Amino acid sequence: MLATNIFLKIINREIPAKIVYEDEHCLAFHDISPQAPVHVLIIPRKEIRTHADLTEADKAVLGHIHWVAKQLAEQLGLAEGYRLVINCNEAGGQSVPHLHLHLLGGRKFGWPPG
Ligand code: AMP
Repeated sequence: MLATNIFLKIINREIPAKIVYEDEHCLAFHDISPQAPVHVLIIPRKEIRTHADLTEADKAVLGHIHWVAKQLAEQLGLAEGYRLVINCNEAGGQSVPHLHLHLLGGRKFGWPPG
């Protein structure tokens, strides 16, 4: 089972987070357990559990979080490169059941991922 939706609590300001960006569609904050010198999570305000739950109506918000990721990458000094990750469901490594885009940078990444 995926854990409870702690990201909704961050959206609702019930628990703190180091928020780096927000607008009417999304919120971005530092990951509590960073896997790289820069590790930010970008989440839609809309409650979407997983990537597999996306509908056609979500295309705009999906594009938007990628646009925000590109701008944050510039602001956070990741001109050399960065990695974007969306884990989907337990087999894909997802632990929090609210769609989120990982923006990772500041070190070199290997391939294939673990
Ligand atoms: P995933 O495994 O793709 O579902 O990613 C969930 C991410 O959320 C992990 O990288 C966690 O470290 C991160 N995380 C969990 N709880 C918090 C929190 N309260 N604040 C910030 N990041 C969190």
